[in-house]
Amino acid sequence: MAIDRMEIDDAGANPKRLAEAITKQLGDTPCAVPVRQIAADIDIYEIREEPLNGLAGCLIVPEDKSEGAIAVDGRMGEERKRYTIGHEIGHYVNPMHRASSPEGFKCSRKDMLTDNAKPGDRHAKMEVEANQFAAELLMPEAWVRRFLRPKVGLDIEHIFELAAMFEVSKEAAARRYLTFAGEPAAVVFSHDGKIRYVKKTDDFPRLSVWNGQPMPADCYSLTNNKGQGEITDVVESVGHQWLDTSRGLSLGEQTVSQAKGFRMTLLTVEFEQEEDEWEAPRFQR
Ligand SMILES: [Zn+2]
Repeated sequence: MAIDRMEIDDAGANPKRLAEAITKQLGDTPCAVPVRQIAADIDIYEIREEPLNGLAGCLIVPEDKSEGAIAVDGRMGEERKRYTIGHEIGHYVNPMHRASSPEGFKCSRKDMLTDNAKPGDRHAKMEVEANQFAAELLMPEAWVRRFLRPKVGLDIEHIFELAAMFEVSKEAAARRYLTFAGEPAAVVFSHDGKIRYVKKTDDFPRLSVWNGQPMPADCYSLTNNKGQGEITDVVESVGHQWLDTSRGLSLGEQTVSQAKGFRMTLLTVEFEQEEDEWEAPRFQR
């Protein structure tokens, strides 16, 4: 089955709608989205893999976007290559995206994580949209929802299953997972004990840590004794280690150490029910 480019051309400039114009053509069986085949179907004539200096990927494309070529950093793992290809296709199919240099779109590793843009920052806006597109393309909403429906609670295990199912990095899967969390949650991505960045749901309480800082001393993520790749249980954590104010809630912490000093920590909160205070019965005289 080949992807029909006409359907994409009718989808406008919204990244989610653009991705859906492709994924709805993939059939009904959840799978690792064949991102290279999709690229070929929509006239991307080459995907070159080579060491790219500081870039994750680029898209070389003429003004009219009648065809294109993608280069990805060949040193990345397959999951990250797939995401980068998805990101570049996002620039390719979006009619509002224009390359800022004659050599085309050049996307850094940082661009692959851009999730917000200041007003007027056109470059950042395009990167945000290419990332939204890549997430929607590689982890289609309908398939993710179907996968999550029978799951109870929030668990890093679900993130790992999503990553395996869609052949994406655990990090990309974690970001997508939070979109559908349905309850307050945050994922802290760290490296060698330092916080790289945090992704959280809008209703998650304010954190007391920020990017670039060491993780809280004595937090369970640092003190547990699981080996690499072993997901811990969810433990009740000390709220103030992570949160600005932790009154009236209990904080769940679950973590896993990954290769090369990387770590993922899932934080969840439960708001404690205020117990009805006993009131002395009143007697009427
Ligand atoms: Zn980009």
